[in-house]
Amino acid sequence: MAPMAFMTAAPLVRGAGATRAAVTPRRLSALPARAARRAPSAANVSMVGGSLNDLLSNNLEWSKHMTSDDPDYFKDLVAMQQPDYLWIGCSDSRVPANVIVGLPPGAVFVHRNIANVVAHTDFNVLSVIEYAVKVLKVRHILVVGHDNCGGVKASMGDERVGLVDNWLTHIRDVRRRHAVQLATIDDFDARMDRLVQLNVLEQVHNVCSTTTVQAAWNEGQPLSVHGWIYRLSDGLIRDLGFRVDGPEGIDAVYRTVAPRPPAGKGVVPEV
Ligand SMILES: [Zn+2]
Repeated sequence: MAPMAFMTAAPLVRGAGATRAAVTPRRLSALPARAARRAPSAANVSMVGGSLNDLLSNNLEWSKHMTSDDPDYFKDLVAMQQPDYLWIGCSDSRVPANVIVGLPPGAVFVHRNIANVVAHTDFNVLSVIEYAVKVLKVRHILVVGHDNCGGVKASMGDERVGLVDNWLTHIRDVRRRHAVQLATIDDFDARMDRLVQLNVLEQVHNVCSTTTVQAAWNEGQPLSVHGWIYRLSDGLIRDLGFRVDGPEGIDAVYRTVAPRPPAGKGVVPEV
């Protein structure tokens, strides 16, 4: 997994103890703009129906393209990872994070799974959130659902699909929680659209409930969590207007505080 290669390179990040290597702030800020200018057009790459050799050819063309007027492009990219955003989205192949927000490699830390679920005990997403918040110091966490989501659709029926049904139980939990509201919507597609929105809002809440995010807020770290919906039919993102900037934005039931430090050094608690 390519991002892990970035993650293991301590000097590349901007957390405590990290160094900026040879990349100056000016070069850091210039990098995304330069990459965006030289982003390959659809005409340059074979998009669908190709073989693995096509993929490798595409990669060769892309690499050449990115370094065509900046031979140091990849050298600079290796020397830093400084995203402001953590994207938590659906695995759906039609919703590629960097592409639809026009950002180059290095600008977005990404986690994707079926139906953009943030489960309280999923150590995959919890680890991603922790790394993004504590080490990369992202400013924004974006939970991004999309219309016509197959995972959400499957959660609305009673057909058993397989192992994924266990995963989709998280969406059924959302259905049950909002059953009264959903029952007022007769049209299936409209009801599914609403469930997609409700799922995003619930997953935003789950992000905010994590110990990592609450600890960041308690320490005064600027961090916002947002709910977005991507529309497949026109490629546009809608901000649901649900933004949480601190612990007061979540239900008190889920709020936690860090344990108090011991009263004195070497004090052994009574048992
Ligand atoms: Zn989906």
